[in-house]
Amino acid sequence: NRDYLSNKLYCFNKINWDQVLEKYALQLSNITHQYGSSPALNNLNIVVKRGEVVCLLGPSGCGKSTALRLAAGLEQLQSGQILLEGQLISNIQFQMPPEQRNVGLVFQDYALFPHLTVMENVNFGLKKIEKSTAIHRATEALKMVNMDSYKDNYPHTLSGGEQQRVALARALAPEPSIMLLDEPYSGLDSRLRDRVRDQVLHLLKANNCATLMVTHDSEEAMFMADRIVVMRKGQVVQTGTPEDLYCHPIDAFVAEFFGELNFVEGLIVEGGVKSELGLFPSNNRAIGTAVQIVVRPEALSITNEVCLEGTQKALVVESRLLGRTSLVHLSFPFPVLDKKKQKHLHARIPGVVLPKPGSVVGLEIDLSQIFVFEK
Ligand code: ADP
Repeated sequence: NRDYLSNKLYCFNKINWDQVLEKYALQLSNITHQYGSSPALNNLNIVVKRGEVVCLLGPSGCGKSTALRLAAGLEQLQSGQILLEGQLISNIQFQMPPEQRNVGLVFQDYALFPHLTVMENVNFGLKKIEKSTAIHRATEALKMVNMDSYKDNYPHTLSGGEQQRVALARALAPEPSIMLLDEPYSGLDSRLRDRVRDQVLHLLKANNCATLMVTHDSEEAMFMADRIVVMRKGQVVQTGTPEDLYCHPIDAFVAEFFGELNFVEGLIVEGGVKSELGLFPSNNRAIGTAVQIVVRPEALSITNEVCLEGTQKALVVESRLLGRTSLVHLSFPFPVLDKKKQKHLHARIPGVVLPKPGSVVGLEIDLSQIFVFEK
């Protein structure tokens, strides 16, 4: 009956509302921002759940840092609103100061206190904790970033990368429930970066910390993120797990962010998409539509079987071992039909596969690593 239904509806609405407050540690809603007359963000919506690591990924200038600075309160909000743990911390009328937001910050320009030593800097956020526990936590945080032996140094005696590691330790030591990280590993050399980011990831997860991190490096985003938000020109292009974005990019821009690509022209025909590389399956598009076929280098592999009928052939231009994979540069097709239409393709093959330049190889294509986009 009506009363029963309206009661159900009331409960449903109530529960739903509570869940929304409960679920999101950080919510940026309808954020539009500009510097003078230049737009930086255009109606941006981002949420981070408790314990979730979300990475903002995009080219330089697409607005990633602006979004993070607004969440931190380092930039004045111009429109929309920001909620922390369901509580309003920023809208056009009201802006909670950064130090009251109770979030850990690592920003490139969020400097250490110059008059405090490394240990005092890390201890700064631990004032409310009993002294010996605070010293223990600060020491552990400094050990994690390999900076415990610098505890009595002042910031001006440290390199940029060392200062960045201290800033990371300072942000992590209070074990905040929300972390905002802007390119936190950019000043670290690659071996140290691999170690530090591994430890940071495990620490964030152990503390069930909601993290919003900015990076322009897709490998780093895939390493850290439960979810990646790809941005372009102040807007979200696609959001999803690293697997979603890698395996199902919505356009070539997203696909290209996860590694270099081979591009081939195609045309929708009866039964699929026709191209120089062959006929591929394609979902419902009108016959005659011109499309772009994007082929990851990992989709291409080579074979010595060049005599089988129907085998596509290519000429090896260069072969390089890159470590876990080999990169083979190919000139396609072989034999050459029209020099101007000749394609330079890259095949990335696991292990040591180094065919001699000048040799002819057969080409095999993994259809799961091919994407067809309308032009
Ligand atoms: P990203 O972090 O993706 O590189 P930013 O958020 O730093 O992008 O910048 C977005 C846009 O806003 C860029 O065009 C940048 O030049 C501009 N911008 C950022 N900060 C300022 C500022 N303080 N004053 C003027 N323009 C700025």
